[in-house]
Amino acid sequence: MTALSIVIPCYNEEACIDELHRRVTAAARKQVGTDYELILINDGSRDGTWASMQRLAALDPQLVAINLARNHGHQLALTAGLDLSLGERILIIDADLQDPPELLADMMAKMDAEGADVVYGLRVSRAGETVGKKLSAAMFYRLLDRLTDIEIPVDTGDFRLMSRRALDALLSLPEQARFIRGMVAWIGFKQLPLPYHRAERHAGETHYPLSKMLRLAFDAVTGFSTAPLRLATQLGMLLGVLALLFGAYTLFVWMRGGTVEGWTSLALLVILLGSAQMFVLGLIGEYLGRVYVEAKGRPLYIVADVIGSARPGARLGYRGDAGAADGTPGRAAGRIDRVR
Ligand code: UDP
Ligand code: MG
Repeated sequence: MTALSIVIPCYNEEACIDELHRRVTAAARKQVGTDYELILINDGSRDGTWASMQRLAALDPQLVAINLARNHGHQLALTAGLDLSLGERILIIDADLQDPPELLADMMAKMDAEGADVVYGLRVSRAGETVGKKLSAAMFYRLLDRLTDIEIPVDTGDFRLMSRRALDALLSLPEQARFIRGMVAWIGFKQLPLPYHRAERHAGETHYPLSKMLRLAFDAVTGFSTAPLRLATQLGMLLGVLALLFGAYTLFVWMRGGTVEGWTSLALLVILLGSAQMFVLGLIGEYLGRVYVEAKGRPLYIVADVIGSARPGARLGYRGDAGAADGTPGRAAGRIDRVR
């Protein structure tokens, strides 16, 4: 059994990968000697990331390199690596060295000392990130906290150390729309924060433009709360009360012998009601679209190649069919082609 798996999704990280490999390897060796595996997932990069991984894998027997068939996005790439991991403990970390791999020692120590199943990095500061990103992240996590019943820790990413039983629980959640930090919070067990200072990217630029951040935010809200669906009822009641008040006002004016004037007010009311209805329809659409995507039951990702010692019979991509109890693997979305 491998003591430690380190899982790192990489998208266009050519400029980071050598330094990443060096620092992560040093941190892992210090903790567990060679009893670890380093799983790098190439998430359909357009640069030389996969070539670098192949080069490193040829030299480093600890390295498992997974090549996805296309870009599936951070959360799914991470899932692919987690699916293949063998370790008793699993460290999730970004490829850009914003989260220092050296904190592995502290995370291990905390897990041992306090018997925790998850130790997650809590960002007390974030270097080199724009005010806009920090502000939107702060607002988003607080909104999410108000909308959901489970406690998703504020100011955390996916940087965390997990026990095998916590990871197995996480991997039993089948959804396509994955917001992993929230899903980890949902599984429970003892989860403890480890405060740290988030560094600047080692090289390159963020791969989370506004569009991807918004999508993750929508996945988070729809995945963990149905509160927005009740908005229609609340909005309807509010508008009903307003209508009553307006009715009373017109009656009052009529009794005093006047009429309420107004093409403008009518037109405004029509537009207001129309936009409220469209907004609520859109909200319902967000949920409906996700129901549709989940109902199709497609694999979460497609694997093109795996280099290195991979978990035999690992279920790749498909959920809900993990294989029979006698070890017969379930439906697999990719075969492990090259096992060294
Ligand atoms: N990433 C990925 N697929 C994507 C986008 C990002 O695997 O489509 C990886 C990326 O290589 C990095 C991690 O996800 O290891 C976090 O991305 P990034 O550093 O760009 O996000 P930020 O730290 O700016 O939120
Ligand atoms: Mg980053």
